[in-house]
Amino acid sequence: MPSGPNGTRCRVCGCTYEHACAGGCGWAANEKDLCTTCETAIAAVAVWYEDAVKSSRTALKREVEKIAPAWCVTGRSRRKARKARKVK
Ligand SMILES: [Zn+2]
Ligand SMILES: [Zn+2]
Repeated sequence: MPSGPNGTRCRVCGCTYEHACAGGCGWAANEKDLCTTCETAIAAVAVWYEDAVKSSRTALKREVEKIAPAWCVTGRSRRKARKARKVK
């Protein structure tokens, strides 16, 4: 992270000044505990939610899991994620 108070942690991903997100991040404008990586993700989801004909969060999650299988690997979806990784 290029700037930001020490000890501050992103409220979404938990990154800190010492442990920034992969690719680097900074603090979002007007937010003291939200990093730019998460700000980008939130903005993208917000646009999608407004613009998509049917903004189904379940369907969106399914698509994200295809490119990031480790995402949301909890309980029942664990087996599915492992399968997806094997295919790749
Ligand atoms: Zn973050
Ligand atoms: Zn970050």
